[in-house]
Amino acid sequence: MTATATPRFAERFPTDIASILDRVEQIDPIRYAQTRNYLDGAVTRLSPYISRGVISTKYVLLRMVERGFDPRRIEKFVQELAWREYYQRAWQVKGGEIDRDLRFHQEGVQNTAVPSALVNASTGIEAVDAAIEELYKTGYMHNHARMYTAAIACNIGRSHWREPARWMYYHLLDGDWASNAISWQWVAGAASSKKYYANQENINRYCRTRQSGTFLDVDYADFEEMPVPEVLRPTVVPELETKLPKPSDITLSPGHPTLIYNSYNLDPAWKSGMDVNRILLLEPSHFRRYPVSEKVIEFVLALAGNIPDIQVFVGEFDDLAATVSGSIIFKEHPLSRHYRGTAEERDWMFGVAGYFPSFFRYWKKCESELAGAQLALGF
Ligand SMILES: Cc1cc2nc3c(=O)[nH]c(=O)nc-3n(C[C@H](O)[C@H](O)[C@H](O)COP(=O)(O)OP(=O)(O)OC[C@H]3O[C@@H](n4cnc5c(N)ncnc54)[C@H](O)[C@@H]3O)c2cc1C
Repeated sequence: MTATATPRFAERFPTDIASILDRVEQIDPIRYAQTRNYLDGAVTRLSPYISRGVISTKYVLLRMVERGFDPRRIEKFVQELAWREYYQRAWQVKGGEIDRDLRFHQEGVQNTAVPSALVNASTGIEAVDAAIEELYKTGYMHNHARMYTAAIACNIGRSHWREPARWMYYHLLDGDWASNAISWQWVAGAASSKKYYANQENINRYCRTRQSGTFLDVDYADFEEMPVPEVLRPTVVPELETKLPKPSDITLSPGHPTLIYNSYNLDPAWKSGMDVNRILLLEPSHFRRYPVSEKVIEFVLALAGNIPDIQVFVGEFDDLAATVSGSIIFKEHPLSRHYRGTAEERDWMFGVAGYFPSFFRYWKKCESELAGAQLALGF
């Protein structure tokens, strides 16, 4: 089967490479820093492309530098890009441990499901319900809305973070299990020592709503002892199933290297112009463990349409490897550890590797790379 671009995401998340690169050119890192916390702020909406490996954080930073921005003057924006790398570095070290409470036991858990009111977008918190509707429609949710949703699920509804995280990941075009699982844990107090709460006043400010009298319309001091509100009591374990395309035959040029792409590596510039076999590998075992919606699969296939002559292989790595006669090359990723062949380094902004319990300890090291102009970019 050959991947074909589907124009279904054209409006909010175009999948052709020219539009994606143009979106990078439209970034206003100054307005970004001033408005990013607001739901209508100047956020980039680049995460679906960065998390799927179409473009790298390094590419985005490099373009900012080429446009004349000194990275030290647009620190807030660079820091946000660095969060991506921070989580990926944590995943490299911790592997499957990020699937469980990473640093602290999540306190106060009463269920291992998801409040049905979140799944049905009927919590009564207008901004959150609208953000969930938007997630279902577009596959995107603003960072603040993600934090509000997670706080309602884990800290007000007292669900363990994992099922709600899996539900959100399923629908996100930018689903990145490291950013997702650890952010949920950060909100729930499993990756940080404090739970995150947002009250109605905070939500009204950043979402420009004017609600009062809701279950969140309380003082922060009241949250910890608050019983689960009636509306959040019914829970559900959503059925999350991935519909993969039907397996079909692929044709490999014998003796040529085979490059492996997957839903975290869809880089059209990777060894472009070289005479190689290009295979998008969709492993059923991966999607059983980390299910994604039909929309996400459609998005992945459409992005793969930017890679000339790519063929889709639905099956396990070992089955693919058995049909390959030349070398196999892939990009390093925590979920590709079972691949065999040559693992190439991803494009990082910072050479800072390892697990840091706190982002700011990690960022200090990145800052010295920036200050010492030792950034891999070479400026
Ligand atoms: C509960 C929760 C779940 C999340 N799940 C995911 C997920 O599955 N996939 C995902 O990519 N992000 C996740 N995030 C992080 C963040 O919400 C998104 O990366 C961000 O909202 C993407 O929108 P944007 O591109 O407009 O971001 P912008 O604000 O424009 O940021 C620019 C870029 O910086 C990077 N970035 C910014 N914030 C973060 C962050 N906290 N972590 C990682 N990268 C960041 C992204 O690549 C983003 O494209 C989650 C956050 C929370 C609180």
